[in-house]
Amino acid sequence: MNCKETEELLLPFIQSELDVEQVQDFLEHIKTCSFCREELEIYYIVYAEIDGLDNNAFPSYDPMGELEKKIDAVHALVQRNHRYMVCKYALTTLAVIGMIVSFFVQMRLWI
Ligand SMILES: [Zn+2]
Repeated sequence: MNCKETEELLLPFIQSELDVEQVQDFLEHIKTCSFCREELEIYYIVYAEIDGLDNNAFPSYDPMGELEKKIDAVHALVQRNHRYMVCKYALTTLAVIGMIVSFFVQMRLWI
């Protein structure tokens, strides 16, 4: 993912509208690109202020801490999804192997 693509996903990320693959690419880029990381922080502060005004709430005193928590939570979600996909792949592979073995066992019974 390049800087332009990342910039387009800043607001959807803050509003939790990205799918798992987009989030994964987004976080990878944010981790290595200080420019986009800074853009995310600015967007997040502005969004937190506007959201606070819309909801008649006091603006957050620690928007950077909240952003860190959000990034950590999303990162944990991505890792959980990755483990789920690995387990799903392993179980599917075992099921296919089981079907092949039972097919050959059945063939031996017929012959
Ligand atoms: Zn960038």
